[in-house]
Amino acid sequence: AATGGSTTVRQVKLDKECELRIETSLDLPLRLRLLTGTAEIFGTEIPPEIWLTIPPRLKFAVFTWYGATIEMDGPTETDYTADETPMISYINVHAVLDGRRNRAKASPSDSDTSQGPRVVVVGPTDSGKSTLSRMLLSWAAKQGWKPTFVDLDIGQGSITIPGCVAATPIELPIDPVEGIPLEMPMVYFFGHVTPSANIDHYKVLVKELAQTLEKQFSGNAESRASGMVINTMGWIEGVGYELLLHAIDTFSATVILVLGQEKLCSMLKDVLKNRPNVDVVKLQKSGGVVSRNAKVRQKARGYRIREYFYGPSNDLSPHSNVVNFGDLFIYRIGGGPQAPRSALPIGAEPAADPTRLVSVSINRDLLHLVLAVSYANEPDQIISSNVAGFIYVTDVDMHRKKITYLAPCAGELPSKYLIVGTLTWIEN
Ligand code: ATP
Repeated sequence: AATGGSTTVRQVKLDKECELRIETSLDLPLRLRLLTGTAEIFGTEIPPEIWLTIPPRLKFAVFTWYGATIEMDGPTETDYTADETPMISYINVHAVLDGRRNRAKASPSDSDTSQGPRVVVVGPTDSGKSTLSRMLLSWAAKQGWKPTFVDLDIGQGSITIPGCVAATPIELPIDPVEGIPLEMPMVYFFGHVTPSANIDHYKVLVKELAQTLEKQFSGNAESRASGMVINTMGWIEGVGYELLLHAIDTFSATVILVLGQEKLCSMLKDVLKNRPNVDVVKLQKSGGVVSRNAKVRQKARGYRIREYFYGPSNDLSPHSNVVNFGDLFIYRIGGGPQAPRSALPIGAEPAADPTRLVSVSINRDLLHLVLAVSYANEPDQIISSNVAGFIYVTDVDMHRKKITYLAPCAGELPSKYLIVGTLTWIEN
């Protein structure tokens, strides 16, 4: 028998309620299949017998409720079995949410009671918020609900690239390899990876997203009853905490799930104690959640942007396009040069409006920036408009006044209005 080589095919037997935690290798995929029993990856059942190809650098767990045998082929960074997980408490939350969805469905005509649970998942960085959101969504979808996933975490981005707030209906359990289907996300571009770059702008976008969803829900009893799962940022102190409260209010949340932090939980319980229709629930963090330092996070952001252009399995080919400077109108939100004092009425103080639209002239500063293509028809709609997609600036020719960019597809952009922030990417 082959020894030592991590590429040997091997089998792992999992007892009930145990999980196999895996980090795939940095550069090679891992093949994995379910030989016996049943198992799931973050809430999505894996099909029996079929080999799954898991891309490099993925951290995940194969969990079984009743026992399973898993076969792996290929190297891993780490893999180990854990018999202590918080999965029972997570599925119990799912059961409660499911009951509320059924109740909402039973009274479709009443605007209040027809609303399913609106769940906000909060906790410090690396507490497993995205993972819990994903499990709750996949379990709900498995039962035929169409919950809406809202991602307010601009630092990583589960739905689209970092720097955005976004929402999308989840109609099927989320594919462990392909992730969230990108057919119809509603995306607002903030353009920075931390809200502190422009707190007011961030709040405006959260509000726009909430209002748009509210409108969609009013005409769709099924989405309404299915409710939402809202993933938030790991920034929970000071302004970060204010932003959590802002999100809870703006989305009229009814359930707050607090992962792994007593203090945050008691603070939220305290401020929300006068709202009988809001439940604050503390949940344990999974021991499997992998911590990521700033550098790893930054890398992950780069991979995420790469994925947007090249596909999760490197299966897409983006197009390089060249246009004249005059064909694009680029804007940024807030900041920028303020009116000089001399231009203001006597006694007035120059104030930078954080949500002001500022026209950006094209020069080489745009190189390596990721820009969003707005759906706006007029510049003054830009701040309140969602975006069609993103482009990546690969060259700015000042001499010929031409800009070269990468886009997911060829042809003209859906709009000439672009938004720029500080989101950069170095293709490698
Ligand atoms: P952020 O601070 O970026 O918002 P988070 O709290 O959302 O992070 P996750 O993204 O859910 O945390 O988890 C961090 C990492 O740990 C992810 O790569 C995730 O796939 C991995 N992970 C979560 N749970 C497990 C588990 N049980 N076994 C193995 N890996 C896991």
